[in-house]
Amino acid sequence: MSDSEKTSTGTVERHEFGAEVGRLLDLVVHALYSDREIFLRELVANAADATDRRRFAALTDAALSMPESPKVRIVPDKAGRTLTVTDDGLGMGKEELTRDLGTIARSGTRAFSQSLAEASPGERPNLIGQFGVGFYSAFMVADRVEVVSRRAGTDEAWTWASEGQGSFTLTPGSRAEPGTDVVLHLKEDAEEFLEPTRLQHIIRKWADHIALPIVIGGTEEMAGNQGTALWRKPKGEIDEDGYAEFYRHVAHAFDKPWATLHWRAEGATEFTALLFVPGMKPFAAVEGERESRVRLHVRRMFITDEAGLLPNWLRFVAGVVDTDDLPLNVSREMLQATPALSRIRKAVTGRVLSELGSRAKNAEDYVGFWENFGPVVKEGLIEDGARRAEIAPLLRFRSSTAEGWTSLAEYLGRMKDGQDEIFYLIADDPDALARSPQVEGFRARGLEVLLLSDHVDAFWPDHLGEYEGKKLRSITQGAVDLSRFAAEGEAAEAAPELGGLIEALKTALGEDVSDVRPTDRLVESAVVLASAGYGPDLQMQRLLRRAGRGLGALAPVLEVNGRHPLVQTLARRVESGEDVSDAAGTLLDLARIQDGDTPRDPVAFARQIASALAAKDPAPS
Ligand code: ADP
Ligand code: MG
Repeated sequence: MSDSEKTSTGTVERHEFGAEVGRLLDLVVHALYSDREIFLRELVANAADATDRRRFAALTDAALSMPESPKVRIVPDKAGRTLTVTDDGLGMGKEELTRDLGTIARSGTRAFSQSLAEASPGERPNLIGQFGVGFYSAFMVADRVEVVSRRAGTDEAWTWASEGQGSFTLTPGSRAEPGTDVVLHLKEDAEEFLEPTRLQHIIRKWADHIALPIVIGGTEEMAGNQGTALWRKPKGEIDEDGYAEFYRHVAHAFDKPWATLHWRAEGATEFTALLFVPGMKPFAAVEGERESRVRLHVRRMFITDEAGLLPNWLRFVAGVVDTDDLPLNVSREMLQATPALSRIRKAVTGRVLSELGSRAKNAEDYVGFWENFGPVVKEGLIEDGARRAEIAPLLRFRSSTAEGWTSLAEYLGRMKDGQDEIFYLIADDPDALARSPQVEGFRARGLEVLLLSDHVDAFWPDHLGEYEGKKLRSITQGAVDLSRFAAEGEAAEAAPELGGLIEALKTALGEDVSDVRPTDRLVESAVVLASAGYGPDLQMQRLLRRAGRGLGALAPVLEVNGRHPLVQTLARRVESGEDVSDAAGTLLDLARIQDGDTPRDPVAFARQIASALAAKDPAPS
């Protein structure tokens, strides 16, 4: 009963916006002023989203059931200078009004203002939708906005109102049916938005592909959109701009698509698909979201974007799949189990892969895609055993010898006689990789090493295992035998005897190493680390250690370069009976640092280096 009391007394609650929201409002209103007509696109998109959500929720909860023919209504009132956007959607209760309209986008504000500064004026209108700040664009044209909303399944309505100046109020309201009215009290200079033909023009331009009817006017209605589901049109009737506009809508993007795939599948399962590969890495969509958001429609009706139509490792693909072969009331459980849907998933995935495969033939064109989404595609090697062989040819790498990007096939073409493995090195820092001592001996022998620095690179090589019968081999894993490849220049000379040095190092380093051995894979560096035997690759061990799971891994092997002056000096010192324990520790730490790791004891390491440097200083006479 307290609810109705509240209604009758008309309690007003005042709430402050977060400080960030105030700034955001300012940004939206000022940066986008010249494109203010897009406020209508944003409000209509929200209305259509809310209607879609109600339809989907009603499938499993009859209390939320939809009116017979839901629509979005845009009603101008010249006398009152208001414009109202009304929908039959899910509506918002008190909580949603406070949360969704009062505190949005705090975390996105910084990214939003940065993108705004970087975007050209032509790109700006599309940023709004991308960052989920669409509702706020209403304040470009209105100096007061009221939202009257009733959540489906409840009979309580609330009015949210704000002047966009840092606070909003919540008052109990009334609404006969569930849904939402957004009432804009237009600014004096925004009266153009009371003209029905102007409104229709805006809707045709920005929201024509919305399937839900959008009508303009109160008593005398006029159709806003043509409601043509773009994907159902024949390809010949859609031009590049038409595709691009739709892409921006479904992908929340503001660039041009890198690839547009539009086809109709006939046969056991029939469907139409219109999919896009973005031309830019979308904000948060690659790192943040984990699941594919391709929209599923049944007979044009939007059903859900959670049907997992594409695997996670193709989650950057945006678009629509529309089929007649599912019932309109397909439920969440059915989404998992329906054979028709798994056939669609398979077909759609195959089609995207073959498109990538053919675009990969044009190296210059493909690089743009690979730099944006390569790391995501690599996840497929881990998650999707059945598709591994199809993914491998799509991979591109930096390499120790080739300029730019290289494929595995190109690597195979450059392999040395007698080479039967594909060598790779993984590290965090792409710049350090090329100079890494790990690569020296390979370079001296003209052996190419693939240089991997994406986070996912530590994980997939073990899953792929080989390419065209050639094993993938981490050069930090175990001992790579380079003796059968002729080296050029000084590395070709036989290494000098190290005498007792190896034993002395082993004794001094104890359990910090599992072995010390001479190596031919170094040219300019004195030492390098390798993992012991066939344990995990060194980078993998580092990741495990950082995750607190490094225990149990074998200590690394220290490999020493007998041709290096430092190593030779140490060998002589051991011969003459000197203790080289301190130097041994420093050598091991140097090897760790070269791989981007830290010294075991940074303070002790710094002291040793300092005293070694001091010893070199000629004493004052
Ligand atoms: P976005 O649509 O990208 O989430 P908006 O600023 O446009 O960002 O809207 C914020 C949120 O407010 C929406 O996600 C939705 O939850 C809610 N909302 C806005 N308009 C409506 C509406 N007409 N009906 C129901 N909920 C709405
Ligand atoms: Mg929105």
